[in-house]
Amino acid sequence: MTEQLERGPVRTAHAGVLLAAVGERGVLCDFYDEDGSDTYRDLIQDADGTSEARQFAARLRPAPGPVLELAAGMGRLTFPFLDLGWEVTALELSATVVTAFRKRLAEATADRQGRCTVVQADMSAFALGKRFETVVISSGSINELDEDGRKGLYASVREHLEPGGKFLLSLEMTKPVGAEPLERQQELPGRSGRRHVLHVKILPSEEIQEITIYPAEETADPFVVCTHRRRLVTVDRIVRELEGAGFAVLARAPFASTSAGRDDMVLVDAVKREITRDVR
Ligand code: SAM
Repeated sequence: MTEQLERGPVRTAHAGVLLAAVGERGVLCDFYDEDGSDTYRDLIQDADGTSEARQFAARLRPAPGPVLELAAGMGRLTFPFLDLGWEVTALELSATVVTAFRKRLAEATADRQGRCTVVQADMSAFALGKRFETVVISSGSINELDEDGRKGLYASVREHLEPGGKFLLSLEMTKPVGAEPLERQQELPGRSGRRHVLHVKILPSEEIQEITIYPAEETADPFVVCTHRRRLVTVDRIVRELEGAGFAVLARAPFASTSAGRDDMVLVDAVKREITRDVR
């Protein structure tokens, strides 16, 4: 994500075909940048994270002390956490997303505003000068980072956890490459009534998923094509990386992202291991 924000939107092969067809009406943007924010809000802002937030709450004491949420986005989970009475520091990298988050927070009750701190920072290298009993990261967010980024994430989280503190991650159950079609497409309704098309292409050799989102209405003007690249990482791999980075994984609890659906996510409950030096 860091490099995607710095270098600008990725021109996926699918975006290239669409933009060539719509000519001057076409606008290419990243899903998390200024031009993409209208599409992001239409699809994500009101998505309800309450049931996912409850999965996190189930692994913690009822009053868990200050919680650090990484890659908080527009607060899909932050607001349900605040509803539980938690004190939350919400860290997010994208300036556009942080602005939209702050706008949403300004509409919350004074009590909720008082319990939420918003920080613009990179989750793969941050220094907040404060420790937390709990650090959480929601589904899809770890997929933003490459291997080096994830190493930086684990090291930064260790630095910000109290001794014995918990790192809770909700992870998508990524299917092994080859187990699903390399290319798929579906229509998604937005809260405005507009319809969007989500096109996903897996690049197996790079372990990357390319996402292209665009209007279902062919005559849309401007015709905004949002793209984003995410890493494909399995739960097993994350668990191995956590163990190698000084965490003990206590539990892997499967859960369903939708109330009627099958288990498609895993809540990983990890605790910071104290690294003791051999003093012989
Ligand atoms: N937690 C939110 C949710 O559940 O709806 C957002 C999840 S969204 C899949 C990923 C978020 O991570 C985006 O808001 C993106 O801007 C943010 N992000 C990407 N790279 C980041 C980084 N290096 N540090 C912090 N946030 C990052």
